[in-house]
Amino acid sequence: MSTTSTGTTSTGMTPAPAHVTVIGLGPMGRAMTGAFLDRGHHVTVWNRTPSRADALVARGAVLAATAEEALGASELVVLSLTDYDAVYAVLSGVAPAALAGRVLVNLTSDTPAKARAGAEWVAERGATQITGGVLVPPSGIGDPESSTLYSGPQSVFEAHRPTLEALTGTDYRGEDPGLAALLYQLNMVMFWTSLTSYWQAVAMADAHGLKAADILPLAVNALDLTRFLEFYTPRVDAGDHTGDVDRLAMGAASAEHVLHTATDAGVDGALPAAVLDLFKRGLAAGHGADSCSSLVEILKRSAT
Ligand code: NDP
Repeated sequence: MSTTSTGTTSTGMTPAPAHVTVIGLGPMGRAMTGAFLDRGHHVTVWNRTPSRADALVARGAVLAATAEEALGASELVVLSLTDYDAVYAVLSGVAPAALAGRVLVNLTSDTPAKARAGAEWVAERGATQITGGVLVPPSGIGDPESSTLYSGPQSVFEAHRPTLEALTGTDYRGEDPGLAALLYQLNMVMFWTSLTSYWQAVAMADAHGLKAADILPLAVNALDLTRFLEFYTPRVDAGDHTGDVDRLAMGAASAEHVLHTATDAGVDGALPAAVLDLFKRGLAAGHGADSCSSLVEILKRSAT
């Protein structure tokens, strides 16, 4: 079930106003609180720095004096903190009884291992964790076309899905509390490396007097990898690295040209050098005549 832009669910029902607590009012927590308020929910908030709640209180949110008071206000508690260390910093300070019976929708990003340990930690205190990975920036909160990954006990998630649909579309993946965190990190490794490659290209363009605007169409085309992903996916899953279309030796030569184009212009070469190093390890492992996808086999094993 998804939510339409008018706030109704795909069944045409408007979810009943719920009580929800938001702990953590960074840009994300503030956007989430605003989205819950927009849908008519009763929102209690708490933040280490209380002044961040001012605009939300003006819109109808209730500012709790303590985290414990915020937990007491709602069964459904959304956590939007920097990382799991911050989660423990907040929750360790409350009486365990304040956690009992709560559903903690932890939209704080961190590693899968920390998400699983966090789920155990809250279960020991009588609460349930639903792990989330938000796939959009704060500007995407409130948009049903946006998406958040969720995992954890399904029946608990389904009970609160209509309320959570105020934030984004909901993409439930399974019972393992680490799964949403894992998928989120897979998303982020692709996001950060792709975006960094764009920044590298902008720096190299700048060295030749070109502005970011000059390379926008090129960048849009280069970062749309759809046809490559569709081509490689079945082959990689089948362990097929046949070099019939591309060869690692060709890729290594190209990666070397990229590095020299950067360093010849006095631009930082750390990123292209790291890419070239990976290709060279593929060559050293005997994959020169195989597809560049054989780098997956190199990446499966830690170099250290
Ligand atoms: P911020 O780091 O800006 O804010 C997080 C909140 O954590 C603040 O309310 C801050 O309180 C609180 N906090 C940090 N450390 C502590 C601590 N030791 N004790 C108590 N409170 C603490 O994060 P965002 O709002 O940007 O994001 C929240 C989560 O959402 C993060 O896990 C982030 O990775 C994830 N996310 C963010 C996206 C984004 O574009 N912003 C996109 C997708 C996911 P205080 O105000 O007092 O400093």
